[in-house]
Amino acid sequence: MKRALLLNADWTPLNFISDIRALTLLFKGRAEVITLGEKPSFWNERINSASNNYEVPATIRLLERINRRYSTPRFRKKILFNRDNWQCQYCGIKLDWSSVTIDHVVPRCKGGQTTWKNCVASCVKCNMKKGPRPLSESGMQLKKSPSEPHITHYWEFNQPSTWHEDWNSFFSSR
Ligand SMILES: [Zn+2]
Repeated sequence: MKRALLLNADWTPLNFISDIRALTLLFKGRAEVITLGEKPSFWNERINSASNNYEVPATIRLLERINRRYSTPRFRKKILFNRDNWQCQYCGIKLDWSSVTIDHVVPRCKGGQTTWKNCVASCVKCNMKKGPRPLSESGMQLKKSPSEPHITHYWEFNQPSTWHEDWNSFFSSR
Protein backbone atom coordinates (compact mmCIF):
# COMPACT_ATOMS: atom_id res chain seq x y z
CA MET A 1 0.00 0.00 0.00
CA LYS A 2 1.24 3.46 -0.88
CA ARG A 3 0.60 6.44 1.29
CA ALA A 4 -0.62 9.82 0.17
CA LEU A 5 0.37 13.09 1.73
CA LEU A 6 -2.74 15.05 2.68
CA LEU A 7 -2.39 18.82 2.57
CA ASN A 8 -4.76 21.32 4.06
CA ALA A 9 -6.33 23.83 1.66
CA ASP A 10 -3.55 26.26 2.63
CA TRP A 11 -0.94 23.70 1.50
CA THR A 12 0.29 22.80 4.97
CA PRO A 13 0.85 19.07 5.51
CA LEU A 14 -1.80 17.42 7.68
CA ASN A 15 -1.03 13.74 7.60
CA PHE A 16 -0.09 10.71 5.58
CA ILE A 17 -3.14 8.67 4.71
CA SER A 18 -3.82 5.35 3.01
CA ASP A 19 -4.28 5.21 -0.75
CA ILE A 20 -7.91 4.12 -0.29
CA ARG A 21 -8.64 7.06 2.00
CA ALA A 22 -7.02 9.41 -0.54
CA LEU A 23 -9.15 8.04 -3.37
CA THR A 24 -12.26 8.36 -1.23
CA LEU A 25 -11.55 12.04 -0.58
CA LEU A 26 -11.05 12.58 -4.32
CA PHE A 27 -14.28 10.77 -5.25
CA LYS A 28 -16.22 12.76 -2.70
CA GLY A 29 -14.90 15.95 -4.25
CA ARG A 30 -13.27 17.01 -1.01
CA ALA A 31 -9.72 17.05 -2.35
CA GLU A 32 -7.69 17.39 -5.52
CA VAL A 33 -4.43 15.89 -6.71
CA ILE A 34 -1.84 18.65 -6.75
CA THR A 35 0.53 19.37 -9.58
CA LEU A 36 4.05 20.53 -8.88
CA GLY A 37 5.95 21.32 -12.00
CA GLU A 38 4.64 19.34 -14.94
CA LYS A 39 3.05 16.18 -13.68
CA PRO A 40 0.16 15.64 -11.28
CA SER A 41 1.34 14.00 -8.08
CA PHE A 42 0.63 10.29 -8.58
CA TRP A 43 2.56 7.15 -7.79
CA ASN A 44 3.66 5.21 -10.79
CA GLU A 45 1.14 2.44 -10.13
CA ARG A 46 -2.54 1.68 -10.12
CA ILE A 47 -5.11 0.18 -7.77
CA ASN A 48 -7.50 -2.34 -9.29
CA SER A 49 -11.09 -2.65 -8.25
CA ALA A 50 -13.83 -4.85 -9.69
CA SER A 51 -14.84 -2.42 -12.40
CA ASN A 52 -11.97 -0.05 -12.82
CA ASN A 53 -8.43 0.78 -11.97
CA TYR A 54 -7.15 4.00 -10.59
CA GLU A 55 -3.89 5.86 -10.50
CA VAL A 56 -2.62 6.01 -6.94
CA PRO A 57 -2.44 9.61 -5.70
CA ALA A 58 0.74 10.72 -3.94
CA THR A 59 -0.15 14.25 -2.84
CA ILE A 60 -3.66 15.60 -2.45
CA ARG A 61 -4.99 18.86 -1.11
CA LEU A 62 -8.27 19.50 0.68
CA LEU A 63 -10.47 22.01 -1.14
CA GLU A 64 -11.82 23.41 2.09
CA ARG A 65 -9.51 24.27 4.91
CA ILE A 66 -10.01 22.36 8.12
CA ASN A 67 -9.04 23.62 11.54
CA ARG A 68 -6.79 21.15 13.10
CA ARG A 69 -6.30 21.33 16.81
CA TYR A 70 -2.81 20.18 17.48
CA SER A 71 -2.44 17.83 20.38
CA THR A 72 0.69 16.11 21.55
CA PRO A 73 0.70 12.61 20.10
CA ARG A 74 0.65 9.70 22.51
CA PHE A 75 4.12 8.39 23.29
CA ARG A 76 5.00 5.36 21.20
CA LYS A 77 8.39 3.68 21.00
CA LYS A 78 8.34 3.17 17.28
CA ILE A 79 7.64 6.84 16.57
CA LEU A 80 10.39 7.82 19.00
CA PHE A 81 12.90 5.61 17.21
CA ASN A 82 11.80 6.93 13.82
CA ARG A 83 12.24 10.46 15.16
CA ASP A 84 15.78 9.59 16.24
CA ASN A 85 16.44 7.94 12.89
CA TRP A 86 17.14 4.62 14.64
CA GLN A 87 20.46 6.03 15.84
CA CYS A 88 21.88 6.15 19.34
CA GLN A 89 21.53 9.81 20.32
CA TYR A 90 24.83 9.65 22.21
CA CYS A 91 27.28 7.76 20.02
CA GLY A 92 25.38 7.74 16.72
CA ILE A 93 25.52 3.99 16.16
CA LYS A 94 22.73 2.56 13.98
CA LEU A 95 20.14 0.56 15.93
CA ASP A 96 17.35 -1.93 15.29
CA TRP A 97 14.66 -3.54 17.45
CA SER A 98 17.18 -5.96 18.96
CA SER A 99 19.66 -3.28 20.01
CA VAL A 100 17.63 -0.16 20.73
CA THR A 101 16.78 1.06 24.24
CA ILE A 102 15.08 4.15 25.55
CA ASP A 103 17.18 6.49 27.65
CA HIS A 104 15.45 8.92 29.98
CA VAL A 105 17.52 12.13 29.76
CA VAL A 106 16.37 13.05 33.26
CA PRO A 107 16.40 9.60 34.86
CA ARG A 108 13.18 8.11 36.13
CA CYS A 109 14.62 7.88 39.63
CA LYS A 110 15.08 11.67 39.54
CA GLY A 111 11.49 12.20 38.47
CA GLY A 112 12.07 12.08 34.71
CA GLN A 113 8.99 11.13 32.74
CA THR A 114 8.41 9.04 29.67
CA THR A 115 7.71 11.93 27.32
CA TRP A 116 8.88 13.03 23.89
CA LYS A 117 11.16 15.65 25.40
CA ASN A 118 12.75 13.39 27.98
CA CYS A 119 13.34 10.22 25.97
CA VAL A 120 15.86 9.33 23.29
CA ALA A 121 16.96 6.24 21.43
CA SER A 122 20.15 4.86 22.92
CA CYS A 123 22.35 1.83 22.47
CA VAL A 124 22.74 -0.43 25.49
CA LYS A 125 26.33 0.62 26.02
CA CYS A 126 25.58 4.35 26.22
CA ASN A 127 22.49 3.71 28.31
CA MET A 128 24.58 1.76 30.83
CA LYS A 129 27.38 4.30 30.74
CA LYS A 130 25.01 7.15 31.52
CA GLY A 131 23.26 5.12 34.21
CA PRO A 132 20.94 6.88 36.63
CA ARG A 133 22.70 10.21 36.24
CA PRO A 134 21.28 13.38 34.77
CA LEU A 135 22.82 14.36 31.46
CA SER A 136 24.83 17.23 32.98
CA GLU A 137 26.62 14.88 35.37
CA SER A 138 27.27 12.15 32.83
CA GLY A 139 29.72 14.05 30.65
CA MET A 140 27.77 12.79 27.64
CA GLN A 141 26.16 14.82 24.91
CA LEU A 142 23.00 14.41 22.88
CA LYS A 143 23.18 14.58 19.09
CA LYS A 144 20.08 16.77 19.13
CA SER A 145 17.67 17.86 21.80
CA PRO A 146 14.58 15.67 21.92
CA SER A 147 11.39 17.16 20.55
CA GLU A 148 7.85 16.17 19.70
CA PRO A 149 7.63 14.03 16.60
CA HIS A 150 6.68 15.32 13.20
CA ILE A 151 4.17 13.59 10.93
CA THR A 152 7.01 12.15 8.87
CA HIS A 153 8.03 10.16 11.97
CA TYR A 154 4.80 8.22 12.17
CA TRP A 155 5.78 5.87 9.41
CA GLU A 156 9.05 4.46 8.30
CA PHE A 157 10.11 5.89 4.98
CA ASN A 158 13.25 3.86 5.06
CA GLN A 159 13.18 2.85 1.43
CA PRO A 160 13.31 5.33 -1.39
CA SER A 161 10.28 3.62 -2.94
CA THR A 162 8.09 4.65 0.00
CA TRP A 163 8.97 8.35 -0.25
CA HIS A 164 7.62 10.42 -3.13
CA GLU A 165 9.88 13.14 -4.44
CA ASP A 166 7.00 15.64 -4.56
CA TRP A 167 6.97 15.53 -0.75
CA ASN A 168 10.42 17.09 -0.52
CA SER A 169 8.86 20.50 -1.12
CA PHE A 170 6.83 20.21 2.07
CA PHE A 171 9.51 18.98 4.45
CA SER A 172 12.78 20.84 4.62
CA SER A 173 14.39 18.14 6.72
CA ARG A 174 13.16 14.81 7.92
ZN1 LIG B 1 25.47 4.67 21.92
